[in-house]
Amino acid sequence: MTEVETLLALQKIDTACMRLQRELEKLPELTQIMQCRTKRKEIKAKQDQVIELSDDTEKKLLKLQAEEEAVILKINELQAKLDATSDYRVTRSVTKDMEGQVKRQAAIADEQNELLERQIKIDKLADQVADMLGKVDHKEEHLTADFKEKGGKIKQELEQLQERRAGLKGQLDASLASLYERLREEKHGIAVGVLEDAKCSACSQVLLTGQLAKVKKGPAVGECPHCHRILIVSADAE
Ligand SMILES: [Zn+2]
Repeated sequence: MTEVETLLALQKIDTACMRLQRELEKLPELTQIMQCRTKRKEIKAKQDQVIELSDDTEKKLLKLQAEEEAVILKINELQAKLDATSDYRVTRSVTKDMEGQVKRQAAIADEQNELLERQIKIDKLADQVADMLGKVDHKEEHLTADFKEKGGKIKQELEQLQERRAGLKGQLDASLASLYERLREEKHGIAVGVLEDAKCSACSQVLLTGQLAKVKKGPAVGECPHCHRILIVSADAE
């Protein structure tokens, strides 16, 4: 392989590597996985809210239950007092207390029913949220598997190209190889241009007559006077 051929092959491989790298970064699965994660976060926040609501309702129910027990105790006490007395004034006062306690008992029952209905709704919501979470996790799992498969193929191709690249680079003169690498890094991956008519294929600029004559008089591997990349002056002859 001539120096020119090696440089051109190297450039071709690097262009292919860049394309594969972009392909890897732009795999639709990657975006979709990110979308899944955003959605998961939203659902998780909703789940936290539902749990908070459920805890709150449960706490209220427990409090009501304790109050209900206290009211029943009180009613029993009042009933015992009523049974034990024959004084009409005591009877009247105790009966009044009793009415108050019974009223409270009814109010507690209403509140309990309301809370229980709310709890049923919250439980339903919790099921829905858990279901959504399961679905999004399942989707992400599939996408990840697809991404790994597609990405794995691209990475394998990249590795093969890198191997060939290392072989080609080894064939170049050390100073030309390091020049190539430096230009590749500086010039967005394109280190080599080819002189086509009077134009550099890398920067598309036309060489002036004087520049053209100078470059043509020089070696087959020159330098573009515009972009300062390696310029293949003649791809046929070494
Ligand atoms: Zn150029």
